[in-house]
Amino acid sequence: MTDFLTKRARSRRMARIRGQDTGPEKVLRKELHKLGLRFRKNVAGMEGTPDILLPRHRTAIFVHGCFWHRHEGCRIASTPRSNVRFWREKFERNIARDKRKSRRLRSLGWRVFTVWECRLTTTDKAARTAATIARRLRLPCEPRKIAD
Ligand SMILES: [Zn+2]
Repeated sequence: MTDFLTKRARSRRMARIRGQDTGPEKVLRKELHKLGLRFRKNVAGMEGTPDILLPRHRTAIFVHGCFWHRHEGCRIASTPRSNVRFWREKFERNIARDKRKSRRLRSLGWRVFTVWECRLTTTDKAARTAATIARRLRLPCEPRKIAD
């Protein structure tokens, strides 16, 4: 029973975090803005609710927390040692949801970028990540992920 309550508390906390204008997103927006890119954020009703939208470039950006969205090979994406099954299922659901969102947006003609939070931990890193995005926006190709 104690476990159950813990899980519920955890889910509530997650739900709260997800909907917010979180640190990494803000940092990236600031850097994109410096590069002259104009965007919209957390657009309601938009397919997949991307964190940042660049309508002029028909580009959607998801800023992913390395832990929740399982950044492969990243130190932040460690797996908790207790409730292993619970976490594995939770992570699998998150990954499946991310894939679904990207697929839908792409089918509507949007370019989709995923930016990992570990690429935004310092102003320097964030500036480099924003520069990478700006560079890639001018390319005809469709990169799946930025700065893995
Ligand atoms: Zn990471």
